[in-house]
Amino acid sequence: LSVTLTFLGTGDAFGSGGRFQTCILIRAEAFQFLLDCGASSLIAMKKSGVPPLAIDAILVTHLHGDHFGGIPYLLLDAQFARRERRLRIAGPPGLQERLRVTSEALFPKSSQSQHRFPIDFFELEPRTTTSLEPLRVTAYPVVHFAGAPAYALRVECGGRVIVYSGDTEWTEALIEAASGADLFICEAYFFNKRVKYHMDYQTLLQHRARLGCKRLVLTHMGQDMIDRAADVSLECAEDGKTIVL
Ligand SMILES: [Zn+2]
Ligand SMILES: [Zn+2]
Repeated sequence: LSVTLTFLGTGDAFGSGGRFQTCILIRAEAFQFLLDCGASSLIAMKKSGVPPLAIDAILVTHLHGDHFGGIPYLLLDAQFARRERRLRIAGPPGLQERLRVTSEALFPKSSQSQHRFPIDFFELEPRTTTSLEPLRVTAYPVVHFAGAPAYALRVECGGRVIVYSGDTEWTEALIEAASGADLFICEAYFFNKRVKYHMDYQTLLQHRARLGCKRLVLTHMGQDMIDRAADVSLECAEDGKTIVL
């Protein structure tokens, strides 16, 4: 059994390098889910030939537009496409209400229409494993401001463990989250500039040996990281990159 992961979006919030906003597609047997769904994700999916109707679940690290802003578009597209398949959406507490407000702001009355398909919401509590058969997801609080808790997510599926940092400055919670993971996907927004709430490559490099993951891939690159690509020794994601675990 293998798990296939495709980076549909690996950019920052601002389209740096022409990259799509964060969206990672994971296929574990017949089950397909997204790790984050930035505002540009429906475009990224259609460009890559990924049918949105086949998505069974969306896991959200935090409530910033470049991580969850694509969901209102995906829901409306599903409604028009007469989706009937169940959809699960999991993320920080406040996710369901923020999604309702966002949908309503972007497409008035859209949040009032009755979906033909069931949506199950899961608001994740820190360090508590939630089962979304066949997935298991555990949230680790990280250091990032989004008006609701921000998480790194540890996902178990198809016998593999995939961890994604979301957006965060360095925190020891990443060591805990990434421990024993088959793949740890980590934000690297800047090359060496240290700012509050975001990770830079040099800081991550300093802690690399302490991360107990088998493979580390960097994502969420800003212009500064893209410009310094030749100086980066760790593996980097790019839109369309696929990994088989
Ligand atoms: Zn972000
Ligand atoms: Zn963010």
